[in-house]
Amino acid sequence: KIVTVKLNKHCYDIIIGSGLIAQAVSKIKHYLHQKSSHQIRLAIVTDKNVAAFHLNTLQTKLAENEIYTIPIIVEAGEQSKSFPILQNVIDKILVARLERGDSIIALGGGVIGDLAGFAASIIRRGMHFIQMPTTLLAQIDSSVGGKTGINSPYGKNLIGTFYQPQCVIADTDVLNTLPSREFRAGYAEMVKYGLINQPHFFEWLEKNWQKVFSKGPIQIEAIARSCQFKADIVTHDEHETGQRALLNLGHTFGHMLETATTYDSNRLIHGEAVAIGIILAHQFSEQLNLISPTVTQRIKAHFKTVGLPTQLQDIPGKLPDAETLMTFIAQDKKVSQNNLTFILTRALGQSFIAKNVSPNAVLTFLKQKLMKS
Ligand code: NAD
Ligand code: ZN
Repeated sequence: KIVTVKLNKHCYDIIIGSGLIAQAVSKIKHYLHQKSSHQIRLAIVTDKNVAAFHLNTLQTKLAENEIYTIPIIVEAGEQSKSFPILQNVIDKILVARLERGDSIIALGGGVIGDLAGFAASIIRRGMHFIQMPTTLLAQIDSSVGGKTGINSPYGKNLIGTFYQPQCVIADTDVLNTLPSREFRAGYAEMVKYGLINQPHFFEWLEKNWQKVFSKGPIQIEAIARSCQFKADIVTHDEHETGQRALLNLGHTFGHMLETATTYDSNRLIHGEAVAIGIILAHQFSEQLNLISPTVTQRIKAHFKTVGLPTQLQDIPGKLPDAETLMTFIAQDKKVSQNNLTFILTRALGQSFIAKNVSPNAVLTFLKQKLMKS
């Protein structure tokens, strides 16, 4: 399946399917508009886990076609989205004398996509870039839309660029080696797309989730529908001045929980924090009399069925108090003056951007939620 992302200055394809790494050579040549493989030089940025499973397959295919590759392997995990690692990646690319017309492939999850994409955007003012996302989250979310970047001690993703790839090659076969916990976390973002403004997609997921979790055409369809959804939002709002903010459903509370649990060994992973964040955003909408509790209960039931956490009580370890949690929300970049911007909802699958949420209302809400735990 192919989903095309249409932007003002640039259009690119997301190719989704089984066996794509094996066919990578023809795709790469096609999208880099190269007739002869001799001129193609590629840096493959990946992490240790992904390298162990998939780097060899890709490199062998490329080598058979006399495509010269430089593997750059970083540690797995969020810590790699940092200045020291970025510099390391950049140095390796420059030492190998890759030039502007050469390309960088990101083979990995969102961490690798963000890091390699950022490097590609600033080396020689922009090198060709290809995404080969290997997590469900990266295939449906982070590889679509062109946000790249690293973290700062002052917050996540604060340093970065908008930079679009030449193409995205999402081989669903690589999901076979993805730990199930990571798969579920990515699935939370898929459910989010339904809850933003496609109740039918949410209902479809409720019926078909088991097939989405296993290899086959339904899984590919679910990924393609998710990419299409995100691509449409990005097309209309490439630089997040309006509707793109809807993608933050569940993320204000989600980031708060990620920050609160950063130093825990049992840390929540992003999609898990988002799952709880989505439920909290719906419960907060209940409190504002926007929706009835049945809406939240239905989503909660679905998350439980697939094994995602749904409440603060599901988080191992002790959480900080509500005041401290509020400071994590205030650090998030979506704050302006004394009003918070939240994504709230009017019904199942009818979310909207609320720009004037009072921090006091959120504080009171959090206090209640913590009391119950
Ligand atoms: P990740 O890249 O850390 O991958 C999760 C784990 O799975 C890692 O340990 C990785 O080594 C492993 N892994 C990846 N693919 C594998 C495979 N096929 N088989 C076995 N193991 C595999 O995390 P993620 O969830 O993919 O992405 C999270 C990151 O994405 C965050 O940094 C987040 O900020 C970013 N993100 C960016 C955007 C964007 O628009 N740019 C959107 C959402 C998230
Ligand atoms: Zn997310």
